[in-house]
Amino acid sequence: MTSTQSGMLSGKTALVTGSTSGIGRSIAEALAAQGANLVINGFGEADEIEAIRSEIAATCGVEVAYDGADMSEPDEIERMVAQARQRFGGVDILVNNAGIQHTAPLEEFPVERWDAIVAINLSACFHTTRHVVANMKARGWGRIVNIASVQGLIGSIHKAAYVAAKHGVVGLTKVTALETATSGVTCNAICPGWVLTPLVQKQVDAKAEQEGLSNEAAKRKLVGERMPSERFTTAEQLGGLAVFLCSPAADNMTGISLPVDGAWIAQ
Ligand code: NAD
Repeated sequence: MTSTQSGMLSGKTALVTGSTSGIGRSIAEALAAQGANLVINGFGEADEIEAIRSEIAATCGVEVAYDGADMSEPDEIERMVAQARQRFGGVDILVNNAGIQHTAPLEEFPVERWDAIVAINLSACFHTTRHVVANMKARGWGRIVNIASVQGLIGSIHKAAYVAAKHGVVGLTKVTALETATSGVTCNAICPGWVLTPLVQKQVDAKAEQEGLSNEAAKRKLVGERMPSERFTTAEQLGGLAVFLCSPAADNMTGISLPVDGAWIAQ
């Protein structure tokens, strides 16, 4: 069904990094369903990305641009934001979502993986934010939603770079909220527990292999070990939360990190 851009976010533009897959894609779809024009970003096959881009545009009746900027490259981030501003007049909603994972004990952690995780999962959030925030403040409205993780609030073995980067995202969220507190701009972090996306399927596969389990048994075990709800969080639920954070109800909600984790960190 084609909507007519009459949603709550009609006339706004959202830039969602890492939105060719998983959580970012669902958040982009949820914002577009509320009428936001989009810049989507991320890696993948050109025809698959074009299919995602054109389907969201057709389904939601919004404009959707794709930008393939590599979030580990500060110059490409600057160019992407400049092009978004040129095409849409500004970025009203920034969702810092692109992320990668690598697991290994500290003494074996590849330095190159540490650098890549910190660059993509943390430094990219700083670069996008520094390029959009002045314009948001000048316009008197903006939403910055950082996709952190429960791993931004607690630690886990073998995830040194990821845990460090996600704790950094939670810290950056607080500073951004403080520096924008009187401006009409809010900045919050979402901290999901396990969400069954390609990023997590790799960890399911590793568990199945290490413990000789089927794919289904490995999924149940992964979730059951951490999440009292015994259910994956879904990407659609996170899309709904991102929309809420962009709604008037969340106007004075800023600087916080919201777990969506089936009571993982309540333990
Ligand atoms: P995913 O692998 O499905 O998607 C990651 C996206 O990031 C893809 O679009 C990919 O192309 C993009 N990306 C990766 N490297 C990039 C780069 N250098 N430049 C531009 N784009 C790049 O993963 P996901 O599970 O949807 O993860 C999205 C975010 O959610 C990540 O920040 C992740 O840390 C976080 N997160 C995921 C889970 C989970 O259980 N899946 C839990 C907590 C937090």
